Amino acid sequence: MLRKLPSLERLIRQLQRVPYLASKNVYRIAAYFMNCSDAQVDQLCKAIIDARKNTASCTICFNWHESESLCSICADERRDNSSVCVVETWHELVAIERAGGYHGVYHVLGGVLSPLEGIGPEDLEIEPLIKRVKTSSVKELIFATNPTPEGEATASFIASKLKGVPVQLTKLASGIPVGSNLEYMDRVTIYKALSGRNPF
Ligand code: ZN
Repeated sequence: MLRKLPSLERLIRQLQRVPYLASKNVYRIAAYFMNCSDAQVDQLCKAIIDARKNTASCTICFNWHESESLCSICADERRDNSSVCVVETWHELVAIERAGGYHGVYHVLGGVLSPLEGIGPEDLEIEPLIKRVKTSSVKELIFATNPTPEGEATASFIASKLKGVPVQLTKLASGIPVGSNLEYMDRVTIYKALSGRNPF
């Protein structure tokens, strides 16, 4: 089908490397790009390059930001620094923020422990979290990792590293279906799970 279309084939191959794109969709997306104006394609490429260039990790919580060194949440004096919600990735932070009602701060791990994929504690922002809890005024750590085996194992690993440290460990209340992802939960479910959290 892609014989004698080497450039288009390269585009399809690049799109196939993007996770979360359904394999059937890459052909549609390639066709969409082919029909775009040059200006539209330039704008998209520039947006990707700019977002990568101008965005960095917050030095406290590892959320993304475009300012000096802190994200808008850590820099906000109205947020409660004694309550830290531990999330896997930035999308989960966004989902919780969208749900509203949480006034603490976050810690973005950058993924979950996954021995099968070769992801160990050193690949995640676990060490900075332990240090943060031990050296600042954190009173409560809320585990909002996803209810998957990897998410649960990651929370347990962090909890084991904090044995003897005077910090209250809690987790989201049930209501989040097992195996699901916070990113796809509706706001009310997230809000309820967060407001009715349980001891870890
Ligand atoms: Zn931050």
